[in-house]
Amino acid sequence: MGPEARKEARKPETAEDLAAEDAPYWLWLNRVLVDGKLFDLSGRRYQQDIMRPHTPDGRFKHNEVIRKGAQIGITMGKVGEIVHGCIFGMYPQGVIVYFPHKGAVDLFSVSRFKPFITDNPETVGKYVTGTDRGDFRNIGSSRVYFLGCSATTRVGEGGKKDSDSVRSHSADWVLLDERDMFDEDMTNQVNQRLFNSACPRRTDMGTPTIPDFGVDLLYRRSDQRRWQIKCDSCHKYTCLETEFPDCIVLSDEPYFKCSHCGSHINSNNGSWEPDYPKRDLVGYWPSRLLNPNTNLTLLMKTFEDPEAYSTTKGEFLRTTIGIPHIDVKDELTVSDVLACQGRDGMASNSKIPCAMGVDVGNPLYAVIGHRLDRGRYKIIKVARVPDWGALHDLAKKFNIKSDVLDAQPEYHAAREFQRKENHRVYLCYYSETQRQFAVWTTDNIVNVLRTEVFDASHEMVKQEGVLTIPRVNEEVKLFANQLTKTVRVIETDGRTGQKIYRYRRRGDKEDHYRNALNYFYLACQKIGISQESTQRKRPQTQDMSFSLGNYRKGA
Ligand SMILES: [Zn+2]
Repeated sequence: MGPEARKEARKPETAEDLAAEDAPYWLWLNRVLVDGKLFDLSGRRYQQDIMRPHTPDGRFKHNEVIRKGAQIGITMGKVGEIVHGCIFGMYPQGVIVYFPHKGAVDLFSVSRFKPFITDNPETVGKYVTGTDRGDFRNIGSSRVYFLGCSATTRVGEGGKKDSDSVRSHSADWVLLDERDMFDEDMTNQVNQRLFNSACPRRTDMGTPTIPDFGVDLLYRRSDQRRWQIKCDSCHKYTCLETEFPDCIVLSDEPYFKCSHCGSHINSNNGSWEPDYPKRDLVGYWPSRLLNPNTNLTLLMKTFEDPEAYSTTKGEFLRTTIGIPHIDVKDELTVSDVLACQGRDGMASNSKIPCAMGVDVGNPLYAVIGHRLDRGRYKIIKVARVPDWGALHDLAKKFNIKSDVLDAQPEYHAAREFQRKENHRVYLCYYSETQRQFAVWTTDNIVNVLRTEVFDASHEMVKQEGVLTIPRVNEEVKLFANQLTKTVRVIETDGRTGQKIYRYRRRGDKEDHYRNALNYFYLACQKIGISQESTQRKRPQTQDMSFSLGNYRKGA
């Protein structure tokens, strides 16, 4: 019986009937050990709904997102729910738990899942059959896979990423843990695992990193459930996550206060209430404030002086409160971009030899301009054109001498354009691994380090006086907006454990002009310095002679 049919079934009569329906109750009734401790919801009532396939109003959670603080029992709660679901046949085609990379799978499998089986031989262990492999376990008549989701190979000249572990198995439920660490393309591909399911289910969960990205973006699109705590005195509700830090009263016994009347409130006395009840995606935001083991005095000290506790403000907000954060230096804002405006409006042609960067899509996004000197750039035109013919016309009007195009996704069309044009055209590939910044090959390909070229365009905008863009109009606004869609994040490499910078797309991910700016930057490396800069130096000479004034010899 599938989960959807289940809710139509008769009311459970015995404790066992009820336990068969409900994972948290089953774990409690059977005295299951989770992370070595008896499963118990006292003080943790927030976990209960998150461990169920239905919302309290009986809706099946086809899509669910959990934007959470770290270490609050959500992952192991899901493990309990998965094991229970498999034992009672809720997911006949199986369940896949994805982690961002293989290292995380091994860690989870050895340190969390294996003990869960061995600690509970009578309640869990007896249902687990077959091999003791790290990547899957048979439980009841279902199978649970634990898979790493990194892009293992790139196939085809489109460079489409694909991973064996993403392709090979079918399932009724897929879960993505540590959602923000996943390769973006992979997060879409996992849906293919659910195509054969009569009742598909997907859960994305994790600690947020940056705003408008990954688990935070999903939560914003969800029905946005918050844990609303009822006050016994005034009967109104308080959400600790949105009221933090004002909801904490520090005393000998720190406590949470009602944001309406100031009375002591009990965080267990709450319910998950959606801010947008009509939305299908079910979203939860549990923070470490809800965990009864959290030391509130230490938490507030860390909040007030994060450096003293070897953390940062951003890290604290992310892991403790479950709020994403980005440093000002790591993102471009629309006002950062518009601060680069010059006096000139958008040009309609150019006599000065120009460079052009083009992001290939539908339409084509072009950024055109030239260098003023070694470290200064002037953009005179940004435009979207519908096809390659229009791009040719544009290149002609603007006297383009050097052009860098996205090699993907239309490799053949780009090659064709390259063959036909009279100016130098390079096709660009982003690389994550090469040693040099840019490698220009003899067949007019340029391979460039992705992080470094994004750094270059980031600094172009951030550093005063480096980039000049046309006076604002609608297209310049769009250009500015698309530049903000890629932000710098620090990540831990799954294989080496090293901290590395990467650029991630956020929001609607429409970053075409940002890529076009990267390509423009590269194209500029292949042309000389424009005439305009030498003309600019003249007034300086005049100013100098003027300041000498009457003191000049012979005057
Ligand atoms: Zn109150």
